[in-house]
Amino acid sequence: MRVTHRDVVCSFCGTLCDDIEVDVEDGRIAEVRHACRIGTTKFLSASRHEHRLLKPMVRENGRLKEVSLEEAVERAAEILAGAQRPLLYGWSSTSCEAQSVGIELAEVLGGVIDNTSTVCHGPSTIAVHEAGFISCTLGEVKNRADLVIYWGANPMHAHPRHLSRYSIYPRGYFRERGHQDRTLVVVDVRRTDTARLAQKFVRVQPGRDYELISALRAVVNGRKLPMDEVAGVSREDIEELAEMMKSCSFGVLFFGMGLTQSPGRHRNIDNAICLVRDLNTYTKFVIMPMRGHYNVVGFSEVLSWQAGFPFAVDFSKGYAWYNPGETTANDVLQRGECDAMLVVASDPVSNFPKPSVENMLKMPIVAIDVHPTPTTMVADVVIPAAIAGIEVEGTAYRMDVVPLRLRKVVEPPEGVLSDVEVLQRILERVKEIKG
Ligand code: SF4
Repeated sequence: MRVTHRDVVCSFCGTLCDDIEVDVEDGRIAEVRHACRIGTTKFLSASRHEHRLLKPMVRENGRLKEVSLEEAVERAAEILAGAQRPLLYGWSSTSCEAQSVGIELAEVLGGVIDNTSTVCHGPSTIAVHEAGFISCTLGEVKNRADLVIYWGANPMHAHPRHLSRYSIYPRGYFRERGHQDRTLVVVDVRRTDTARLAQKFVRVQPGRDYELISALRAVVNGRKLPMDEVAGVSREDIEELAEMMKSCSFGVLFFGMGLTQSPGRHRNIDNAICLVRDLNTYTKFVIMPMRGHYNVVGFSEVLSWQAGFPFAVDFSKGYAWYNPGETTANDVLQRGECDAMLVVASDPVSNFPKPSVENMLKMPIVAIDVHPTPTTMVADVVIPAAIAGIEVEGTAYRMDVVPLRLRKVVEPPEGVLSDVEVLQRILERVKEIKG
């Protein structure tokens, strides 16, 4: 029998599309509608159990050996409870419920907990501490925005339905003609596929975003630029863009890692927020980061509730200590300050710099994940998890900090638990060991 699940949330990227229809037949996903190609692949491959971890494993004599879940949990708890200052990393591709248990585990262990924002939008968070934040929901963008700017972001590849659901193409309450009522501007170092759709493309020289933002602020605030070009952009183009920004009725600046991870980092975002603040003298303008992993925002929310800080929290002093640059995962790893690692729903071996990975390889690693990755290949304990949003329910936060309920549409593989349950078992055992 075929059953259709409607309004399912896609747990892949920060857009968290919540209009997905999933047909389930004989316990397998038969068809997916409305998702982009990436989201569809996630649903279909999950249902076929393709490229999945299905059995817990523990390393013995250099090789990973299948064991029972109880044995894997016991070994994981021994490693973590025996460490002086473990690092608990990942967390952006799982539910808020799993993140909450992980944060309690970090506190009990006296460890450091950090998530993937440390290598993507961490600078955005630091900039918000300094400059505040003028933002809105994606629903407001859909209904009101008539000027949409993507800066250092290429949603056509990273968030394929962002333009069609929220920013450019949908008909909104005040934008009844959809894309005909809106203007798209892209600022980037190359002509991306998103830039090819734009009415105006501004090519900024790599690493010079801060200068261009400063020039825009000067023009927006009524100054005349004394030079012919800034950061490879002509004075005429800067003046035209500044005028477009001032004369729109509702503008939004979406920014991506092209801005957060280029020279200047959090100063770029600080300056961009100040540009948006300046623009609010003339019109309504908002700013929003293009968050990548589907629940990277949720981690910051949950950690802020439980520890008071959004990422990179160190519990080794007996209280929550937050100091990006000191307590961030790569800094702790590169100084060789942790002696064990728990990785949940992430693959730092593939993504971290070489000095971090070299130090990771010197310590025992416990990995909880859905798929085999280079990190699970070097781990000492590997525990499979069910997929949140397909095989188990949960909560996730969209990039505009709106929480959405993830649905369960099929059963997980036999014997595979949610990472919430796995983490709870490890936490209980750690508490017993530590007395
Ligand atoms: S845009 Fe993102 S959330 Fe939406 S269907 Fe595609 S991968 Fe899923």
